[in-house]
Amino acid sequence: MKYLDEYRSAPAVKKLAGLINQTTKSEWKIMEICGGQTHSIVKNGIEEIITDKIKLVHGPGCPVCVTPAEKIDAAVEIALRPGVIFCSYGDMLRVPGRKKDLLSAKALGADVRIIYSPLDALKIAEENPDKEIVFFAIGFETTAPANAASVFQAHSKNIKNFSIISSHFLVPPAIKFILESGINTVNGFLAAGHVCTIMGTEDYEKISVNYKVPVVITGFEPVDILTGIYNCVRLLENNQPKVENSYSRVVRQEGNIRAKKLMFYIFETSDMYWRGIGLIKNSGLALKEKFSAFDAEKKFNVEIRYETNSDALHKCISGLIMQGLKKPSECEHFGTLCTPEHPLGPTMVSSEGACSAYFKYKKINFNN
Ligand code: SF4
Repeated sequence: MKYLDEYRSAPAVKKLAGLINQTTKSEWKIMEICGGQTHSIVKNGIEEIITDKIKLVHGPGCPVCVTPAEKIDAAVEIALRPGVIFCSYGDMLRVPGRKKDLLSAKALGADVRIIYSPLDALKIAEENPDKEIVFFAIGFETTAPANAASVFQAHSKNIKNFSIISSHFLVPPAIKFILESGINTVNGFLAAGHVCTIMGTEDYEKISVNYKVPVVITGFEPVDILTGIYNCVRLLENNQPKVENSYSRVVRQEGNIRAKKLMFYIFETSDMYWRGIGLIKNSGLALKEKFSAFDAEKKFNVEIRYETNSDALHKCISGLIMQGLKKPSECEHFGTLCTPEHPLGPTMVSSEGACSAYFKYKKINFNN
């Protein structure tokens, strides 16, 4: 297929749904990792057109959802410091910390600016030498190389008034965490195509071999998602726990070598807290000591102390949702106390979160 429309074609979708339904003999729980895939699944009513024997659950691959409240507190604290211009992607502004969000900090007078690329923040730093520019660098392996590029450029150009709050997450340790949890019920995974575009397939091959679980690298359009589900079901039914690349129009086995090289030149793996889930070993990226001058937490002497799940106060079950143990509709607050206008937890506040997707799209499907 050559054109995007072909990946949204209703006949192709129906054909794949039929293939899935014919192939599925047992009950399987399949987790898509990425929030973008979750939205595509819910928006396009994919669960409604395939057999009930397949339960789709929604993984932790939404960076806005998993950024810990304590990191947001640190961002708010730094943004409120005099002389700081705080740069962030727009979707982080409404995400609540333990007390405030960045939008409230802006209302209190902080200079908080929405940017679309880390290099925008660097440009602001060059244009405002008398200010301190801080960039909230959040994301998975997809955005980490661009964030690394901003630090690389700042270092190369000797820009001293630029720093980042690093809130990066790595997918494979989160998959391992789910598989090792002792309460895992997921049988197969749809890996995020854009993450694998950067990282390649090696980490997933190790997971598949070590945990005997199929992992299918999957894209984002309805035909991509259904192809991923079909291939995952086929592997499950044939007891073939291996990696398949169903997004080969983009993903190469080796990934993007230059992007990985840049990422690991600037960052090193570190333990990371995931909002709603907790500490996952080696699942984050911290600036290397050589680049610590660009670490905003060090520069502004902000110490982050992580607590147990602060969202539990509201009986928010987003942590269980992101581990595939519950669905958004099983939350007692879904659509009543918790809505996108008044979110109680991270999976409702983020436009990529599973609760937000259910609230927005749940009734739309291809059968309409
Ligand atoms: S509906 Fe709200 S309270 Fe419930 S799990 Fe989702 S974010 Fe948490």
